[in-house]
Amino acid sequence: MERRSVSPETLAAQALGEVDPVTGGLAPVINPSTNYEQQADGSYWQDRVYTRADNPTFEHAERLLAALEGAGCACALFASGMAAATAVFQSLLPGDHVLVSRVLYWGVRKWLAEFALTWGLDVEFTDTADLAAVSAAIRPGRTRLLWAETPANPMWEITDLAAVCELAHSAGVRVAVDNTVATPVLTRPLELGADLVVHSATKYLNGHSDVLAGAVLTARRDPFWERIRSWRRNAGAILGPFEAWLLQRGMRTLFLRVHRASDSALAIATHFHGHPALKEVLYPGLPSHPGHQIAARQMHGGFGGMLSIRLAGGAGHALAVLPSVQVFKRATSLGGVESLIEHRHTMEGPSSPVPGDLLRLSIGIEDPVDLIADLAAALDAAQGRQAAAASREPAAGQDADS
Ligand SMILES: *Cc1c(COP(=O)(O)O)cnc(C)c1O
Repeated sequence: MERRSVSPETLAAQALGEVDPVTGGLAPVINPSTNYEQQADGSYWQDRVYTRADNPTFEHAERLLAALEGAGCACALFASGMAAATAVFQSLLPGDHVLVSRVLYWGVRKWLAEFALTWGLDVEFTDTADLAAVSAAIRPGRTRLLWAETPANPMWEITDLAAVCELAHSAGVRVAVDNTVATPVLTRPLELGADLVVHSATKYLNGHSDVLAGAVLTARRDPFWERIRSWRRNAGAILGPFEAWLLQRGMRTLFLRVHRASDSALAIATHFHGHPALKEVLYPGLPSHPGHQIAARQMHGGFGGMLSIRLAGGAGHALAVLPSVQVFKRATSLGGVESLIEHRHTMEGPSSPVPGDLLRLSIGIEDPVDLIADLAAALDAAQGRQAAAASREPAAGQDADS
């Protein structure tokens, strides 16, 4: 009987719907073997030799993620999102010019700042949300890669992926998109023209704050893709089978979690938009967000679970909110089932371009009513704490960022 094609949501729920051929088990087995037996004639059972090259447990998770990102693409899992991202840059050649979003995940920015030069890469930061700036920055014949993140950490700026891909391709530039925040539930960059997609699978894909993993996906199995795969194999930046198994389990509920987080994030952003303690709520789902129109076109079924708030009272106020939250967890990272709140400037360190008055929120799957009440109470408490501090010490509360 021919199998009817089903939606990505169905594929995710059933992790592709395969059963274990030996036992009929619905949950896949974990294959921890590092090596495979060579047969008497010198061949291998499935051409598998050693797990640094390939392993059936992570291949299953790879096939599932590839099915979610779009038909016909290929996926390689990595030991972390950073291992995945750097594998793409390390597959370039010395002297290659690369354009990178000015606003992006700080770990990638930090790695580029520290290592790209020694690798011989000519990295240029540009505003990928500004098509004229991208067009002016492309050096025909020298620019080899454009790296975009959308919505971009932690201001959630939106890059028009279809437009940027068209621009880049007209100059022969490959486009890689960090799709960690949008996830394939909301945006499928390969369908908008991107050549590569990168994920920190640590975040929404796994979704339970208990696995570190990354992925690179490609629209085409071309020589550049072979370089990325070869880098993973030879540098050993692979995921372990136990983590890969947890990841396939996490991806089964990806659609439910992302839709819930998006709905709650929109409710929270809408509720706090215009709140007197806040200078700004940064969320692409708000019509006031500069990227809202593009996000509405490019993101399907929601605007994601990430938002940031900027405190009207400056950095001192932002820091004063943190001790008062009871439901939100004070922690870094994002994309888990529990909601998180974080002062990004402190986390990223003194060189961070993130304003000191900003708090980043990762919305989980709790009752949004509890999240709104918790944040409202923490904003009130911060106001009280700052007022008390100011009355004790009249010069306090004037921070550099306000
Ligand atoms: C976390 C993150 C990364 C890095 O991934 P790790 O799994 O922590 O190595 C890259 N990009 C984005 C957008 C992230 O949020």
